[in-house]
Amino acid sequence: MEPSLIIPFHKADVGEDEVEAVSAVVRSGWLTMGPKTIQFEEEFAGYIGTRHAIAISSCTAGLHLALEAIGIKKGDEVIVPTTTFTATAEVVVYLGAVPVLADIDPVTLNIDPADIERRITPRTRAIIPVHYGGQPCDMDEIHELAKRYDLHVVEDAAHALPASYRGVRIGKFSPLTVFSFYATKTLTTGEGGMITTDDDAYAARVRLMRLHGIGRDAWKRYTKEGSWYYEVTEAGYKYNMTDVQSSMGLVQLHKLERMSETRRRIALRYNQEFAAIEQLDVPVEKKDRSSAWHLYPLRLRSESVSTNRDQLIRAMKEKGIGSSVHFIPLHLHPYYQERFGYRRGDFPFAEAEYGRCLSLPIFPVMRSEEIEYVIDTVRNHVNLASRSRVAF
Ligand SMILES: *Cc1c(COP(=O)(O)O)cnc(C)c1O
Repeated sequence: MEPSLIIPFHKADVGEDEVEAVSAVVRSGWLTMGPKTIQFEEEFAGYIGTRHAIAISSCTAGLHLALEAIGIKKGDEVIVPTTTFTATAEVVVYLGAVPVLADIDPVTLNIDPADIERRITPRTRAIIPVHYGGQPCDMDEIHELAKRYDLHVVEDAAHALPASYRGVRIGKFSPLTVFSFYATKTLTTGEGGMITTDDDAYAARVRLMRLHGIGRDAWKRYTKEGSWYYEVTEAGYKYNMTDVQSSMGLVQLHKLERMSETRRRIALRYNQEFAAIEQLDVPVEKKDRSSAWHLYPLRLRSESVSTNRDQLIRAMKEKGIGSSVHFIPLHLHPYYQERFGYRRGDFPFAEAEYGRCLSLPIFPVMRSEEIEYVIDTVRNHVNLASRSRVAF
């Protein structure tokens, strides 16, 4: 083992191909949304298999646009898991609506359909399932609830590229799905995102609203085919992607399958070793779905370990390994407590899993000796902690 080995929690798989693609755009002189973005949208829609893909500045912006497109208004309620990043819920607040939190399934850490149903009221308008770590939620159950109670489903697929559920690719399952291309995600443009839909009306609405509510092809007004004249039909937003980002996205899209296979290989290697360690629970991929393995969430069995999650994170850090925790449940944050009255104890499953989970490094450019070093470090720490417990 090399004490100097530094393994960050994440390192993007970007290299000379991305540098060249970005440089070409910079040299072309067309810096904002333009032909590269259109190409990225077309290729992305082709990859997912939807009629439309609309590039945006972030997944957060995309979720905002999606909720606007389905008509979420002041006073409406939208159900989201408490185990997620704040973006999933904050976009509900942007529209004056109320994010209603739901508990998770302790096996997958995804939103629990039974708990969604308990939280439905006459004001509920939509559900935002989050595919935690890249594993698809129970989409049939969620769509069944949506149908029964007449609710919209907008998927937060920030982790789920590429993932599939019962043979259907995530992005094609619900009327509106939003992906993230943030620096740590499975495809990155630094910042960015994509909305996919088969619905022409939704596509037209989010295209209009992502660029100031200016009529069709607003970006073309500075091109040869464009004209100086335009009409503003709505108070829209500034949520477009740029060609600099899209050129990088195209390179990333072309290597997505390879990056995804590498993630899966790392996850299986971790599972192989950690499943044999009594004090650890490894992530379970359900048989009818395929995860993007954006995260590798490892959990400590609280009843059998004298070690705890925070100690393991510290021990790994001392050995030069980065890790993280996904997620601090929203109801434990001051904002959601003060504004919506949530309290510790409200979501027992989310809290229990939060207390014992950590996310290990999993990224396509991880070298095999780095993977083995992470495995050895975790194993040594858990063994040491268990032995000291016995001695004590
Ligand atoms: C990263 C993330 C987002 C936000 O993505 P951005 O592209 O940074 O806006 C939303 N939801 C989840 C679950 C995320 O992990």
